[in-house]
Formats: sequence, C-alpha cells, structure tokens
Amino acid sequence: MSWLFGPVPSRRYGRSLGIDLVPMKTCCYDCVFCQLGVTPQTTCERSDYVPLNEVFQELEAWFSKGGQADMLTLCGSGEPTLHAHFGDVLRWIRDQTSLPSLLMSNGALFADPVVRKDAAVANRVKISMHFWDEASFAAVVRPHASLHFRSVYEAWLRFRQEYEGALDVEFFALPGLNVEPEQLEKIYRLIEPLCPDTVTVNSAARPPAESCVRTVSEETLAHLRAFFAPLAGERHTAMAAAVQPYSEQALLALARRHPLTPAQFARYFGVPEAQILQTLRQFAATDEYAARALLPREE
Ligand code: SF4
Repeated sequence: MSWLFGPVPSRRYGRSLGIDLVPMKTCCYDCVFCQLGVTPQTTCERSDYVPLNEVFQELEAWFSKGGQADMLTLCGSGEPTLHAHFGDVLRWIRDQTSLPSLLMSNGALFADPVVRKDAAVANRVKISMHFWDEASFAAVVRPHASLHFRSVYEAWLRFRQEYEGALDVEFFALPGLNVEPEQLEKIYRLIEPLCPDTVTVNSAARPPAESCVRTVSEETLAHLRAFFAPLAGERHTAMAAAVQPYSEQALLALARRHPLTPAQFARYFGVPEAQILQTLRQFAATDEYAARALLPREE
C-alpha cells in the first residue's frame, strides 16, 4: 500500500507530492460537491489511520531515488487532521527536507488546540469557506453531528491569530446554495478577518458526490474571483509596508504589525538573531510589542 501519490502538477503550488494519511473516505464532512464521492459515515474520531513508519519509509525511499517536487502536501482520501499524528509528518518534512509543506484541511477540528498547534507547523494551510451560518454549513458540508458552524469558524479565527504561515482560503461555488449576492457578501465578511494570503474560487469539474451539484460558467467564475480578490494578501501587504533596511525603528514597526519570533525577524531583515534580541530587550520595558516578541512560543 502506498501512502504517497504524484507529484501532481498544480498551477498554484507547482509539483505537489501528496501524502495520504487516511483511508478512502474518512472525513468529518460529507460535502455535496466532494469529488471523492459520498462519505459513508462522517467521523470526528482522531486515530492512527495510517502507519506513520510506513509513510516515513516511503518518503525516505522517494527522496533517495531523487524524487523532485515543489511542495509536500497532506491531502488525499479524506481529512488529514483526523490522523492523530499528522503533526509528526509536518515536523518530519520541516526537519528532514528543504521542501515546504501544505496542509489541505477542511478546518473542522481546529477547535482542538492540539490540532491547531500541529497544523501551525505547516508552511501553508488551506481551509474551505463555502457557508456563512449554521443552516448553510449543514446544507453544503453535511457535517458530523458534533460540529457547529460558529465553533468551527471561531476556531479558525484563533488559528489565524496563532499561525504565522500562509493561509489559503477556498470558496467552492454552488449555484442554488451559496452564490446569491447577499450570500457572497456574508461569506466575504467572514473571510475578511482571517486575513488570507490567497482566496481561490472553484466549481465542480469532476463528478461531485451529488449529481444535483451544478458547475458555474467561466464568466461567473471570473466574476467571483474578482469579487474575492481584494481579500488576498492583506498580511503580505502589511509586511511589505514594513520592508525597509534594518533599523531599530523598522524592527519595532514590523513587530507592531506582525508578531514574528526573533529568529523570523532575523531572517526577514537578514541580520543576526543576537542583534534582534538585543534591540527587543532594549525596548521591552517601554514597547509592549517588543516585549511580546521576546515571549517564548510553542512551535
Ligand atoms: S471536506 Fe474534503 S474530503 Fe471531506 S467531504 Fe468535503 S470535499 Fe470531501
């Protein structure tokens, strides 16, 4: 049994080697548009669905044979965060390879702080937002009975506050369910505080779980992409505004906008970490953002 697939060419992510951590089809949702088909029984039970020693052996073999990819992606036959140790795979990628990792998740389990902490190890996280309240959540993703729109969304907001990597948000356009102007407006307002780095808009291409799901025209897709486009890259814009040669003022200005660690500030400005630490300590008594940047953080 192989737990790897690809690399799959992707316009956005380049060549993506897929790592599948759950059997077909293990998910806490049963989305009407799912291209894997219907979820026989939704579950929120986190477990060691796939033996990680085999995953690591396969990855080692793939690299030793000269495997080439641009990204290592946790995705496949269901929801990867249902694997109780998906974070170990992300840490393996971080520690053993020079490639970035992508977690493609429905985000349903982010209320669990352990899931958020493990997800935050990924260089990129992609979550999906096709709904705006309890009723649309139930209609579009048909979640496990224990999941509720408000707690899932609030967990995403918490995750965004904690997470320093790139966040991609996907919107799946579903005529009859979520593309009326007032529905789009509500979804837009919910995505906005998540400060996504990108927003992608998709529509049914392959046969979805439910045959009633319709695709949208290229013209409508283009309109939807333009509609959501202003949401993308807010954090990058904020960071770019602070980009300037290193100085104490530039460091403090960036610390106010974006809570990086001293090591990240050092990489960002291209100066030794010791220099960053010295400045942060110097200003910690009078600048709360400098003080915060010195606080120890979990990985
Ligand atoms: S979250 Fe993903 S895998 Fe699960 S049902 Fe929805 S589209 Fe399919």
